[in-house]
Amino acid sequence: MTTLRAGGLTDVGRVRSVNQDRVYFDDSLFAIADGMGGHAGGEVAATTAIEVLRRSFSANSTEGGLVEAVRTANLAVWEQARSDADLHGMGTTITAAAVVSDSGAERLALVNVGDSRAYLFRNGALRQLTEDHSVVEEMVRAGELSEGEAAVHPSRHILTRALGVEPSVEVDRWSIVPLSGDRFLLCSDGLINEVGDSEITSVLARQQDPQTAADELVRLARAHGGSDNITVLVIDVTEWSSGGDATGAATGAAVAGTPLSNAAGATLARVHGGGSDITMAVPVVSPDTTGLHAPADTPPPPGSGAAAEPAEEAPPTARPGGPGEPATGKAPSRRVTFRVVLFLVLVAAVVIGAVLVVRWFANRSYFVGLDHSQIVIYRGQPGGTLWFQPQVVQRTGLTTDSVLPGRVPDLQHGTEEPSLDAARRYISNLTSEARSLPAQNSPANPATTVPAAETTPARLPPL
Ligand code: MN
Repeated sequence: MTTLRAGGLTDVGRVRSVNQDRVYFDDSLFAIADGMGGHAGGEVAATTAIEVLRRSFSANSTEGGLVEAVRTANLAVWEQARSDADLHGMGTTITAAAVVSDSGAERLALVNVGDSRAYLFRNGALRQLTEDHSVVEEMVRAGELSEGEAAVHPSRHILTRALGVEPSVEVDRWSIVPLSGDRFLLCSDGLINEVGDSEITSVLARQQDPQTAADELVRLARAHGGSDNITVLVIDVTEWSSGGDATGAATGAAVAGTPLSNAAGATLARVHGGGSDITMAVPVVSPDTTGLHAPADTPPPPGSGAAAEPAEEAPPTARPGGPGEPATGKAPSRRVTFRVVLFLVLVAAVVIGAVLVVRWFANRSYFVGLDHSQIVIYRGQPGGTLWFQPQVVQRTGLTTDSVLPGRVPDLQHGTEEPSLDAARRYISNLTSEARSLPAQNSPANPATTVPAAETTPARLPPL
């Protein structure tokens, strides 16, 4: 017989006021979710995801059923986020394991979306099974970043995949044939960011009871700062019955895909030969189209009547601690989805647009002013507009001596004209006015002496 024992808990931590993590386990299903999104969003997303996963899996408790349950949960969270303005931008990670029986052989099916993790603790060694769907972990996998750099990278909390962000989601999946004595650890990033692998390993080795082990891991994460919500679920395989078909099971899994070349698969395969190895199917990489229909047992998400349609992207609420958050270990590690990054890009586009409008406004007019004592035509506004300083577009070669003294204050101040031609006409008027009157004439009433520009055009130096 297969016998599992599990212990788990979730804790708000020492900094956050709300726990957006959720944990669920029964005899055969084990799941954690780490919600994100302002206001109540994160809690709602995680709660919905776990509840829908549980319900959907109970209707189809197979390996495929678990993957389908994640897709159904994704759609439910997405519908909920779309239908309630307060929940826009919410999402959640999910990491779940379940005992399934396909063609007579029992397996442990494992699924993951996001940056919560599953580890296998076997023979005293801790192996990470899941891959984080985060920007920096993908950079690490691409060889662009070291693990050390990733740990302090300012973008380390940006997820590339989460439930509830799109109507469909890619689900990473593994099919595992465990050994009696295996211990699985599911945890949110609130544990990983505070407690190192070696410390996790020593707790898992020392504490035989799964609940005691989970309690101690949470206590350690709190002791190291507890900057995020902490969720830990420890699952012990006390007895595993593979129905005498372990080899067949392993073969079946191998058919499903090439074993991953990650440390877990490769190393374990060497340590434990034969059919009792962990076997892994490659993560599903094809776009999930089946996520668009929900099984009949799934309750319609609140407010959702229509079938899924292309996402109308509403910008998610910008939250503190986004990509710009300081890369200190003690900083609250709020995570954002890729959609938030998109939102920030849109904000940048709006800002650039505003700058262009201001520049257009600043440059749309001309004025005649002085550069030292020379009369010049500027483009822009006298004194500038915000950070746009007026630019000289034409130097006349004329000085203040060429105009009546009474006109000089206007030039010092800058006289606006709607166009370059108008500015030139204005200068012509000033110079012809000065020529037509004695130079030392009083400027007592100069306005009455301004001749029409068209009648006495003055020559200006060529541009
Ligand atoms: Mn978290």
